[in-house]
Amino acid sequence: MDGRITRLKFTVALCLFALTLPLYAQKAPQREIAITIDDLPAAGGNSMTGKEIIEMTSKLLGTLRDQKVPAVGFVNERKLYKFGEVDDRIKALSLWPEHGFELGNHTFSHASLNRVGLKAWEEEIVRGETVTRMLLAQHNMQLRYFRHPYLDTGRDLETRRQAEAFLIERGYRIAPITMDAWDWMYAGVYEDARRRGDTALEQKLVDSYHDYTNQVFDYYEKFSKDLIGYEPKQILLLHGNWLEADHIGELLDLLRKRGYRFITLQDALSDSAYSLPDEYVGEEGTSWIDHWAITRGHPPLNTPVFPQWVIDRSNALPHYPTQP
Ligand SMILES: [Zn+2]
Repeated sequence: MDGRITRLKFTVALCLFALTLPLYAQKAPQREIAITIDDLPAAGGNSMTGKEIIEMTSKLLGTLRDQKVPAVGFVNERKLYKFGEVDDRIKALSLWPEHGFELGNHTFSHASLNRVGLKAWEEEIVRGETVTRMLLAQHNMQLRYFRHPYLDTGRDLETRRQAEAFLIERGYRIAPITMDAWDWMYAGVYEDARRRGDTALEQKLVDSYHDYTNQVFDYYEKFSKDLIGYEPKQILLLHGNWLEADHIGELLDLLRKRGYRFITLQDALSDSAYSLPDEYVGEEGTSWIDHWAITRGHPPLNTPVFPQWVIDRSNALPHYPTQP
């Protein structure tokens, strides 16, 4: 009798163990994401010295390198040309390839395809290649990625396709984004608080940023699954600012907790999702998941609401932060 109960207990235990195996398997990271960082050498470069940009870049890249997280940085070369500071600003940019990170083109002066004509926009791309190409060549890397400023891909399909053909002809691959938690909007307010030593506000902003990031990921992970049947290899949009330099380690932890592992942009772009039909045109630059959804006639609804208090604080700043 006792023996039978023991055997039964053993069988039950074995069954329970077997049942938990798939759960353990599920806990292993299944999601993948590439990190991209725009508006280099610094999003708020106008209100920083070249030395400060070097300090900020070193801190940001130090964390990424220590944690072996790949990233591609996108450059606006106009930000390099500040009288008496050109050397420091180029130095800050050169830290990227020196740390093993690739750079891409984000136009010379952050020009929107929706606002300047196609010809002017193409000239912006050519003009934005000079220093970046040289720095990459020193490390045997090639300039191969392009990110649309403001994510503006054109107001009409003809312009959009002509712009894409121009990029391909010049050897570029377009770098889409799927995840964006508006760090640029937080960053202006954060950098102002940092300058004033308002650590309470800094922390409040970081907490809100991470909370909003989780909301964006909750939404778009589900939305992409509903739309295309799975979660694609994601591409996250961040910006070169003090918010990321000081706190990107916490953001990486947040993403790891969600089951992400970090991959190169090249790896992310191998996902066939990035070849889905995309006929999006419009005034507002947006995530490529939105592009695919709008193309299929299923625009995103009830998207997470960005905290109004941060927008109010940002609008109250003497210099408005620039958009992505
Ligand atoms: Zn940008």
